Amino acid sequence: MDVSNLAFSIAMAVLCLSSITQANFKIPKEIAKKFSSDPEILSLASTDYGHIVHETPLKVFEPSSVSDISSLINFSNSLPTPFTIATRGKAHSLLGQAQTRNGVVLNMTNLKGSLISVSNCGRKTSLNCYADVGGEVLWIDVLHATLKRGLTPLSWTDYLYLSVGGTLSNAGISGQAFRFGPQISNVLQLDVVTGKGELVSCSRDKNSELFYGVLGGLGQFGVITRARIPLGPAPTRVKWLHLLYNNFSAFSSDQEHLISFSTAADYVEGKLLFSQPPLELSFYPDSDHQRITSLVTQNGIIYIIELVKYYDSNSQAFVAKDVADLVKGLKFVPTFMFKKDASYEEFLNRVYAEELFLRSKGLWEIPHPWLNIWIPRSRISDFNEGVFKNIILKQNISSGISLIYPLNRNKWDDKMSPVTPDEDVFYALSLLRSTSSMDMLEKYQTQNRQILEFCKDAGIKITEYLTGNKTQQQWMEHFGSKWKLFADRKARFDPKRILSPGQGIFSK
Ligand SMILES: Cc1cc2nc3c(=O)[nH]c(=O)nc-3n(C[C@H](O)[C@H](O)[C@H](O)COP(=O)(O)OP(=O)(O)OC[C@H]3O[C@@H](n4cnc5c(N)ncnc54)[C@H](O)[C@@H]3O)c2cc1C
Repeated sequence: MDVSNLAFSIAMAVLCLSSITQANFKIPKEIAKKFSSDPEILSLASTDYGHIVHETPLKVFEPSSVSDISSLINFSNSLPTPFTIATRGKAHSLLGQAQTRNGVVLNMTNLKGSLISVSNCGRKTSLNCYADVGGEVLWIDVLHATLKRGLTPLSWTDYLYLSVGGTLSNAGISGQAFRFGPQISNVLQLDVVTGKGELVSCSRDKNSELFYGVLGGLGQFGVITRARIPLGPAPTRVKWLHLLYNNFSAFSSDQEHLISFSTAADYVEGKLLFSQPPLELSFYPDSDHQRITSLVTQNGIIYIIELVKYYDSNSQAFVAKDVADLVKGLKFVPTFMFKKDASYEEFLNRVYAEELFLRSKGLWEIPHPWLNIWIPRSRISDFNEGVFKNIILKQNISSGISLIYPLNRNKWDDKMSPVTPDEDVFYALSLLRSTSSMDMLEKYQTQNRQILEFCKDAGIKITEYLTGNKTQQQWMEHFGSKWKLFADRKARFDPKRILSPGQGIFSK
């Protein structure tokens, strides 16, 4: 037994009570050198964007090919007591979802974006245009590779430095999702190494149970190693608008109006400004900051529709009229409409500028007690009263960035793993907080719990998104009538419950 085999076997002995047999197990030769126990690498693998949960793995596995991933999973399956494997994309999870205690972290980024291949297709019609991308690839790299061909994916997240496998394991939503559905609705095929170590290609027509399970499947059924993403013609520029409202019902009915016809707007989101400093006003000209601040102070909360219309040289002549038609009849506060013109890439990659700024202030790698929930449309005004006005506004803690926008449920496929509220339209709410103070962290976490309790008491059937740190009973409640399907898929594709233990669905 060479040194690395011995070290790993000792680690396994620590891990398992049935270690006497395990200690004699040999790591397959072809992957033996791909395990790292460098303290710095272990320390990196024991944290994530949330900076709230920290679990130290035994080893980090650095694959250089898909077959290394199969070998790793096969090795675990071959042991009397398999070790857990936490697939880690960019680790922008919030609550340890890509971590494992005493198991192995599978570091997908070690594959180094091996694969982005754009099909040969008719750009004008975008017929048969797609990109094959590795699960480890970041969306920003998909954007760059496809723009070179005048093409683009259709559905995005707000932030692009996330891995394809990571967002497809959740849902992947942004302001385009009302029109094209979440990112999981925009996948033609997948290659997946299942929890049994088998490499399987799947789609809606082939091995469909695995395909539907993996999309939004929280990493439970397999490791996504390739996704085929449909592409359309890329616009070159965007008209980017903010419309400010002091009346929630006007705001939400205008948002719902905008998402009710699928071809006019290209992106619809919403933001909230609470009269709690600091106000984030970077979108607006300096000369308008004073009057916006007064509007927020007078009203307590201002609701903002963020609306985008794409264009290129062919549609440039009409875009001003298209935008005028879009906003005609909308009931924002008169004169509180703000417009920007930006390149398509600048718009899509807008959060990156914020990241650079926060990094420069040391405010990126700090705890993020975020809350992401989906709210049925029928209860959105109760939510406004109960949560925005009676919880967040009344507490004297900075609200952070708050996003709220409606989505059309008919753009989601119920055969896929995520659960959504059971109404034609539901709202995505993101309370994006960060703090370096432990005291504030506690306050935000308390506020998050109060919001969830309010919804429960008021009978508002919300769904949590990007959630974690739950007991199995809470996960069963989360999945509701879909729990049996989810558990059956687990038994079929990862029967030894090896994968993504950090979600805590089958392992807590
Ligand atoms: C700044 C920021 C902005 C965000 N904006 C949005 C947004 O606008 N819309 C949105 O929907 N989400 C958003 N998110 C959430 C984001 O989509 C998820 O956190 C996503 O998981 C991040 O991808 P990742 O590569 O970091 O995944 P990781 O954190 O590495 O992994 C997430 C989960 O997926 C599993 N996993 C990772 N890779 C694979 C793979 N290849 N195969 C199978 N399972 C895998 C992991 O085991 C883990 O359980 C945002 C997050 C951040 C930090």
